[in-house]
This record gives sequence, structure tokens and C-alpha cells, in this order.
Amino acid sequence: MIKIEKGIVTASDGERVIVVDRSGRLMIYSDGKETFRRSLLNQFLKVGYRNGERVAALLNEKDAKLVAREAYDFLREFKSNLSSYIPNIDELGWDFLIRDSAKLLNIYKSPVPIVPPDQYFPVYVQITVGCAWNRCTFCHLYRDQRYRIIEEGELIKMIRDLLEFFGPSLPSRRSVFIGDANALLIDYTTLTRYLEIINSVFKLPIYSFVDAFLTPIKLSGDKIQGLKKMGLERVYFGIESGSENVLKILNKPMRIEEAIGFIKEFKKAGINVGLILLAGAGGKEYWEEHVKKSSEFISKIELDREDIIYISPLHEYRDLPYWEISKRLGKLNSKEKMKQFYEMKKSINEEYIKFNHRYLQAPVVLYDIIESVY
Ligand code: SF4
Repeated sequence: MIKIEKGIVTASDGERVIVVDRSGRLMIYSDGKETFRRSLLNQFLKVGYRNGERVAALLNEKDAKLVAREAYDFLREFKSNLSSYIPNIDELGWDFLIRDSAKLLNIYKSPVPIVPPDQYFPVYVQITVGCAWNRCTFCHLYRDQRYRIIEEGELIKMIRDLLEFFGPSLPSRRSVFIGDANALLIDYTTLTRYLEIINSVFKLPIYSFVDAFLTPIKLSGDKIQGLKKMGLERVYFGIESGSENVLKILNKPMRIEEAIGFIKEFKKAGINVGLILLAGAGGKEYWEEHVKKSSEFISKIELDREDIIYISPLHEYRDLPYWEISKRLGKLNSKEKMKQFYEMKKSINEEYIKFNHRYLQAPVVLYDIIESVY
């Protein structure tokens, strides 16, 4: 079976399935038992479900090469039907993927660190580089990057290069993700000008991260409504915790009531939200407070089916300040983080009913940051 739709080719023999874009980039391969996803920057993930929750593991290069070889050998079984659609089908393999990802990396001002896990096939447009705060004790994402807004000329060149990179595969892209960590923090005139440029080319829904402690000063409800009109579909907040004590430990200067009010403005404008909490933040010492206060935080926002709550197990890194802090607080091991995930999920749902007298419609899902590859 072969299906060709919106720049994506799916081929299957009933057991194995491969999905590539029109340029031959591997997107998904399943050998019938295991499923692998490849990111544009050539990271391979094994994805699946355990106890009803989504799980992912990053492959090493040796295993990724094996998956790529097996996947493309399988694709070539359909060569007679596909060679006019994918003219480079004979050249597809590991070397092609390496060259292709290097080309993409070259387009950006710095490597793309993360996109949320539900952003499967976006075009990443980097209108800012890095994070304007960059001082959270646990976060390694933008450590070496100086925050800056890119110039209009740089944006136009980036878009031109992205159009050339995707070529006939552009229809395979489902959204535009504007990065990096605080794209909406830039002054509103520049932001709307940049969105106009992006919209004139891509005509896709727009997604972005947004912080809830620097950006609220800049972005009023009226302006947020303006962003909705310009195609902003969903924004993702790294809330991490609803406990002010835990936020202090993380060095995230978010004020709870201000953050709740700010998130509500997006909901009021019809923009969906993704709220990210960290399992394990605050260690054993703050376990109960973290779960309780995070559940209360969520319950104060009217959420619907289109919103999503992610709980992500916190990864501690030796070279970051949180490493030493977590030793003092009692670091959670991976089993304990999973236990806290289930506890928090239950508590969020219960607290939501108690506070709102209705079920929480937004799903509460596990999310491992390693899955957030572009
Ligand atoms: S967690 Fe978010 S706000 Fe904090 S440093 Fe990292 S990117 Fe910046």
C-alpha cells in the first residue's frame, strides 16, 4: 500500500510502515514491533507506550544507522511506484540524512534545542535566539546562548533558506514554531511585523513557548487577541511548579497569581495552552507541596480538550546549580519521579473537579524532554 498526501509518502506491506517526505527524509519507520521517529536534525527516537503513557528513548548512532538502512531498504521495495515522486530514492541512506541535517542546522543562528512533543512536523522559525532569563538552576537549554532578537533581514534570509531546504516537501509541514524560549517577549510592533512576514510565506498555524514572568509585562490582553488573529494557535508555558517555594529553588521568578491571570488571557483570546510541570522538582522535601500547589494552579484555569498538561520528569545535570541543591532536598530517582507523575496526574484531576465542579477535559500526559527534538 502506498499513500501520498500533503508532501508525505506512506508505504506499508501490512506489517512494516515507512513515512518519508517528498525529499526522501525519513520521518517514521515501524518494523511491525517497534516504532522509530527521526527528527529533522537527525535524532532517532524509539517511541511507544508503557502502562498507557507515551515513552521514548534516544538511539545511539550505531542503532540509528541500522534503523535508517532497514527503513530505506524497505522503501526501495516500492521503487517502481515511487521513483517519479522521489527521484533520489537510490541515494537515500545515512549519508544523505547527515548531509541534509547539516544543511538545516546551518540555516539557524544556534542549534534548535527543543520543540514540544506534540509539534511533530513544524517549520522552526527562530525569531529570537536563546532565553531572555537563562538563570533557572535546572535548565541547560540555552546556557551558551546570548539572548537576542534577530534582524528582519536575517529573518527573510532564514525563511528563504527554509523554503529551499524543504522544497517540494513543504506541504509536509503542519505548523510554524517560533523560537526560541521567549519569542513573544519582543516588542509588539516587531513581533507582528515578523508574524506578517511568516504568514505571507507559510500560511500555517503558529505555536510558541512563552514565559509567564517576563512576557506578562509586555503583552496585554488586547495584544494577545491580536496574536490570535495573526494565527497563534497554542502557546506552551514552562510552569514547572505551582509552589512558590519550589519556584524559588528553581530560580524561576514566576508569581503564581500573575501567571494564572496571564494564561487566562490566552484562553480568553481563543489560544490553546500547553502547561508543563516537572516531576521531581523540589525533591523529597517538597514532594507534597509541589503536587498540591501544582494541582491548585491548574484548577484555577478553565481548560478544554484542545489544551494539554505535560508532566516531565526533571533531568538533573552535574554542571548545573540544581545538582547540588537536589542532593540537599533528597533527589528522586526515576521510579520515584514516575510515582510522583501518577500522583500529580490524579491530584490534578481531583482538584480540578473540586474547584470547577466539572471534569478536566485537557489530557494530563507524561513528557520526556528527550522527545522534544526538532
Ligand atoms: S527553564 Fe525556561 S525560562 Fe528558565 S532558563 Fe530555561 S528556557 Fe529560560
